[in-house]
Amino acid sequence: MSCLFCRIVAGEIPAAKVYEDEEILAFSDIKPEAPLHVLIVPKRHISTVNDLAESDDRLVGAMIRRAAAIAAERGVDASGYRTVFNCNSHAGQTVFHLHLHLLGGRTMAWPPG
Ligand code: AMP
Ligand code: ZN
Repeated sequence: MSCLFCRIVAGEIPAAKVYEDEEILAFSDIKPEAPLHVLIVPKRHISTVNDLAESDDRLVGAMIRRAAAIAAERGVDASGYRTVFNCNSHAGQTVFHLHLHLLGGRTMAWPPG
């Protein structure tokens, strides 16, 4: 199994887990770009947003709602935060296992670079 996030899901590579259930794992980003930087991933391998099917709609909704729950737990819900899916090279995707970035704890620029 060569996918980095599949290996984290399988417990082969350590990660600082924030949340886990049957279908989702959330863990701290190894190179945080904000005081709060968590990645929310499906346990099942999906490469990019382009590969989502209609049958994944509930899963994606659960990922976004989990980001909101973690933001609330970490106290950044009122101040605000950003959720990002990078898709392919123009967006800078480097790990080709779907992941939702949750970034918070500082003011963020718009538009992103
Ligand atoms: P992206 O550029 O959207 O594909 O984001 C990939 C993210 O994965 C980056 O923010 C990396 O810092 C993060 N990352 C890479 N390897 C690990 C790892 N072993 N544990 C946690 N986060 C990682
Ligand atoms: Zn994977």
